[in-house]
Amino acid sequence: MDKKMRVVVAGGGTAGWLAAYSLAKRLGNLLDVTLVESDAIGTVGVGEATVPTMRRFHAFFGIDEREFMRSTQATFKLGIVFDNWGAPGDSYAHTFGEIGQSNWMVEFHQYWLEAQANGFGGNLEDYCLELKAAKAGKFAVKAGETHLKYAFHLDATAYARFLRQKSESLGVRRVEGKISEVTIDPDTGNIQSLELEQGQQVAGDFFVDCTGFRSLLLGDALKVEFEDWSHWLAADRAQAVQTTSTEPPPPYTRCIAHSSGWQWRIPLQSRTGNGIVYSSRFCSDDDARATLLGNISGETITEPLLLKFRTGRRIDPWHKNCVAIGLSGGFLEPLESTSIHLIDTSLVRLMKLFPFAGAMAPLAEQFNQETRIEWEAVRDFIILHYKQTQRDDSEFWNYYRNMDIPDSLAHRIEIFKENGFTWPDSVSFFPAHSWTQVMIGQGLLPEHRHGASRILSPEALKVELEKLSSFVSHNLAKLPDHSDFIKQYCPAEN
Ligand SMILES: Cc1cc2nc3c(=O)[nH]c(=O)nc-3n(C[C@H](O)[C@H](O)[C@H](O)COP(=O)(O)OP(=O)(O)OC[C@H]3O[C@@H](n4cnc5c(N)ncnc54)[C@H](O)[C@@H]3O)c2cc1C
Repeated sequence: MDKKMRVVVAGGGTAGWLAAYSLAKRLGNLLDVTLVESDAIGTVGVGEATVPTMRRFHAFFGIDEREFMRSTQATFKLGIVFDNWGAPGDSYAHTFGEIGQSNWMVEFHQYWLEAQANGFGGNLEDYCLELKAAKAGKFAVKAGETHLKYAFHLDATAYARFLRQKSESLGVRRVEGKISEVTIDPDTGNIQSLELEQGQQVAGDFFVDCTGFRSLLLGDALKVEFEDWSHWLAADRAQAVQTTSTEPPPPYTRCIAHSSGWQWRIPLQSRTGNGIVYSSRFCSDDDARATLLGNISGETITEPLLLKFRTGRRIDPWHKNCVAIGLSGGFLEPLESTSIHLIDTSLVRLMKLFPFAGAMAPLAEQFNQETRIEWEAVRDFIILHYKQTQRDDSEFWNYYRNMDIPDSLAHRIEIFKENGFTWPDSVSFFPAHSWTQVMIGQGLLPEHRHGASRILSPEALKVELEKLSSFVSHNLAKLPDHSDFIKQYCPAEN
């Protein structure tokens, strides 16, 4: 057998350990994986809400759901409840579930809007099991024969620990130490080795930069340009604090908009993660801290941790023999909990395009193109939440309401406003109903509807909608309380 290729993962946060674990798990016969991390620097320590694709990733890489949940204090997540986003006092949910029944020509909300125009149809949420269950605090992986679409809330530090233990048992070598220099081959421009402060050298054939916002390899050493997106996503700071739980964990994340930022609440089995995201252009650190601490319940367990960031991405996440995964490749703010998802998809992409032999540059370019398209799709969806608001109570909201947006998003909003048409993003990550939920939730109602919504008479439409909403109510009645389900399915290990 040929000599194993040496892969060096720099950084041991969520991205680093996910990279080490997945490479060792599926390509361990071909790759010799070493991970370098610095205990003195530590990890970002946040990143606790996820999206349903994590389940598929875990299935690809043999991670058992219950074991993972027990080890990470995890709870289930059916979506996000957004408070005060369209206007102060508003509330809506973006859930992972389907709403009603769409068909190849028309999305369900078109029928619902037609019903509204005729004075019936109730609320959009009456047609979505995940949404009704989230609000009722209920959960099970299945209601009768219907599988729920869900993700998780997890303890980020415990998740990295869980992955480390699995990686080391697969033979991943962990080297503790601070990287002080990155040595580059003057002829090829490839990275040759990492030099550690204590004098140790870690050489490799391929490097995965997971050094977080520092981007030591791709950014600092290889000088790959950072494309700044802060004119669309102005937030550049967050403060995070953990509190004791005061109620059973709800199966959703809460995103509460304030006059100059927004706050998250992420319920774990034994505690709650809280944080505020804001822009230093519009809010001081002291004011943000006061807003955060004034809007938590329970006792604080940690001191508020200040995190500074810049939204945007490295234009070429793979350059020479180095790929950036995680925060080293860029950051979109955490409003829709998409960072771990982007780590997972990058790792799957890397493994499909892994440079075992032949020219590396075309593989890198394919990786870069696919990654760029994916990030732009997620970016547009996040911007929508800020742009589509009626809020005019602060400089912060006035900035967002009036800002220019990417053409791709402007086109989408225009079509919805006129005709109510929605479609999935270009990588089929956010489906049509995600866009619909946010647009309607934030007060954008279409002026016209697809003609097919009038094919049924109002009486027949009413009968069909009632069938759908009673199917949801019927399934909802089968679900236990979320916390009771956790107790029997995956109680946390102490
Ligand atoms: C405020 C905020 C909220 C977030 N919320 C979510 C969320 O809800 N959901 C979600 O999916 N994502 C979220 N994220 C993103 C998520 O936290 C990250 O994507 C995830 O934690 C991965 O981080 P990382 O591993 O890339 O970086 P880090 O956790 O920063 O890890 C970097 C690693 O590199 C090492 N390192 C750095 N420099 C050196 C050096 N010189 N020598 C040796 N080692 C070094 C560090 O020790 C560490 O091990 C959030 C991010 C922020 C900032």
